[in-house]
Amino acid sequence: MTNIQKQINKVTQKITHATTQVHRNEHEIQLLAVSKTKPIQLIKEAYLAGLRHFGENYVQESVEKIQTIKLDDDFQDPIVWYFIGPLQSNKTRPVAENFDWVQSVDRLKIAQRLNDQRPDHLPALNICLQVNISGEASKSGTTLSQVIDLASQVSDLPRLKLRGIMAIPQKTENLQHLEKQFDELHNIYQKLQILYSEVDTLSMGMSGDLESAIKCGSTMVRIGTDIFGARD
Ligand SMILES: *Cc1c(COP(=O)(O)O)cnc(C)c1O
Repeated sequence: MTNIQKQINKVTQKITHATTQVHRNEHEIQLLAVSKTKPIQLIKEAYLAGLRHFGENYVQESVEKIQTIKLDDDFQDPIVWYFIGPLQSNKTRPVAENFDWVQSVDRLKIAQRLNDQRPDHLPALNICLQVNISGEASKSGTTLSQVIDLASQVSDLPRLKLRGIMAIPQKTENLQHLEKQFDELHNIYQKLQILYSEVDTLSMGMSGDLESAIKCGSTMVRIGTDIFGARD
């Protein structure tokens, strides 16, 4: 067993444990492997261990990796690629052309560009709105008060498919404070689910806070460090 495989086993056990604790089913949680800064060789190990969903943050790095992997015979099944990093409007085109999902849409201009640039031969681009739950000015994401409006605008764009929300909570050692943020996100998610039938994704939880996120209703955890090791 490779080291990556062992790490993935640990993560899936953690997910199973966390779901059992709160009487949820482990199949309700999609594991997204966050491979930013990591080489293709490690992505291959994770792929061989069975993972098919990968998240990336940097446009140039990720497009190079996606293109190389497409030509690599070791990857027979298609990979589902998620862009989860901050996105500038002058870099939307390669993202619209190469990814299956974008989870970091935080303003209409970005959504419009992704919509206009999504190639016709590809299915609609899956979208999560990134919510800045803590209101920290340094964080990207739409505010709580704006998310419903943005969702309505995004849902009108024909080449995008609104799937849910994504958030990175404010760092805190206080579990109550952390879970309060996750609960608020779950509330918005439920509101969106009532409004839009295709909304099925609450992307919250990373290596350090996966248990709390699952307890509070997450449907997708984004795990980098616990699978691939620390980043430089
Ligand atoms: C890097 C990153 C992750 C993974 O974080 P880890 O703590 O390494 O698991 C998840 N989500 C986003 C948006 C990230 O940028």
